[in-house]
Amino acid sequence: MTETPPRVDIREVGPRDGLQIERPIPTEAKLELIDALAATGVGRIEVTSFVSPRAVPALADAEGVAAHLSRWPHVTFSALVAGLGGVKRALSAGVSRLEYVVSASDGHSRANVGRSSEESIALIASVAELVHQAGGHLEVIIAIAFDCPFDGPTPPDRVAEIARRAVLSGADALSVADTIGTGTPVRTTDVLTRVRAAAPDIDLGLHLHNTRGQGLANAWAAYTLGIRQFDASVGGLGGCPFAPGASGNIATEELVYMFEDGGITTGIDIDRELAAARLAERLLHKSLPSGLLQAGGLPVPAGAACN
Ligand code: ZN
Repeated sequence: MTETPPRVDIREVGPRDGLQIERPIPTEAKLELIDALAATGVGRIEVTSFVSPRAVPALADAEGVAAHLSRWPHVTFSALVAGLGGVKRALSAGVSRLEYVVSASDGHSRANVGRSSEESIALIASVAELVHQAGGHLEVIIAIAFDCPFDGPTPPDRVAEIARRAVLSGADALSVADTIGTGTPVRTTDVLTRVRAAAPDIDLGLHLHNTRGQGLANAWAAYTLGIRQFDASVGGLGGCPFAPGASGNIATEELVYMFEDGGITTGIDIDRELAAARLAERLLHKSLPSGLLQAGGLPVPAGAACN
């Protein structure tokens, strides 16, 4: 009897978390990147966000992106929303798998969406109702789960409390987000353990930024705790315009390299992923931070390396 290898489920967030902080690029360029990402074998792609075009001009074409997505039977497309207006726009555009962000701190919440953290939590039930009426799926992302650039450290129990209330309010899944990349493996383990205790029976994912070089270590710590869903962005593209100091997500190809080397299936073809990262560099006219990409891809055969 062959044993099924362990598997993780990666969501590519480059077209949203990555592009939101960049100079706007044409809708066609985004669609070309999304197709290149879909061709890697990834099962989920967050393609845009339905938020204020004034606040995030780079994603002002959310409707245009949604209208022209190619059909990839193995891929589920989703979008980020920050309020009821965004939910209505997304549903009208035919996107019913949505991520709704709640910041765990007031400082970031006000900078990000102009509401307190409590006000954003109070909206979850109405967001869930709208999404479910349309037959959709709602994930609540708890942003600023470690530290806030305005308010300082986030109490881990605050994150767990938001998780508990999100489930009671109708969330179908949760993610914990280290928006400014200050988490460490020890803190990641602590926060996820508390969230798991507060919300034991729901899909739980992790959204990491590699700002301080801890991203992959945090992902591995989460994996050992049983977390199987991870956000990552092609080439390590990314940042948050409303979180000073935030830089890119963990790079998808680096996460794939780490997991696959450990015998953990990702479903993603790493050569195609690297090709998508090089395409992103061409479209954005800049180099991306992924170390694997900078190194030119997978290790060279033995005997060909220098020291
Ligand atoms: Zn992010």
